[in-house]
Amino acid sequence: ANNAGGVGTISNENSGTDPKNLRVKLVLLGDSGVGKSCIVLRFVRGQFDPTSKVTVGASFLSQTLALEDSTTVKFEIWDTAGQERYAALAPLYYRGAGAAIVVYDITSPESFNKAQYWVKELQKHGSPDMIMALVGNKADLHDNRSVSSQDAQEYAERNTMFFIETSAKTADNINQLFEEIAKRLPRPTPS
Ligand code: GDP
Repeated sequence: ANNAGGVGTISNENSGTDPKNLRVKLVLLGDSGVGKSCIVLRFVRGQFDPTSKVTVGASFLSQTLALEDSTTVKFEIWDTAGQERYAALAPLYYRGAGAAIVVYDITSPESFNKAQYWVKELQKHGSPDMIMALVGNKADLHDNRSVSSQDAQEYAERNTMFFIETSAKTADNINQLFEEIAKRLPRPTPS
């Protein structure tokens, strides 16, 4: 088994019924440039490398997170960069996704508007019990903040999402983001 972070390939292996070892398909959405790839690379590789791009297509990054209750959660992370160009593939991205991260940049009101568009798309195409996170990234640029935390928090609550502000650059709240998702995942009942 490949538990280290890295590029994985799609397989039919399924440990989804083991209550101690969960796996979840996670999709990323948000305007280009808000930091989706950097968030994933920070989480998976522990690095901030703005020049490196996550592969899109028939591969994804995976990372396993151990929780305090000794549960592990394997995230299969689909970075949907370029999805606008491949609108026909949208249903493929959403299919089977148990969690979604919608990212905006706290310095960009346009990206916050775009995030709200992506939330509507998720509500249209995604599973109704999908765990959804609204993420205000680039929190290190607080001097240039133009989206208030309170507005984002209220929007998230109205849409049954949880809200968190992160910085892929400083690593602030990146692990917490994935931990919050992991904690909210439904636990299968042992058979
Ligand atoms: P994507 O198009 O949403 O995948 O965005 P990228 O991950 O490629 O990031 C776009 C740009 O934003 C890059 O130049 C990053 O250096 C920068 N960036 C990403 N995350 C952060 C962050 O948390 N803080 C700051 N200051 N810059 C960031």
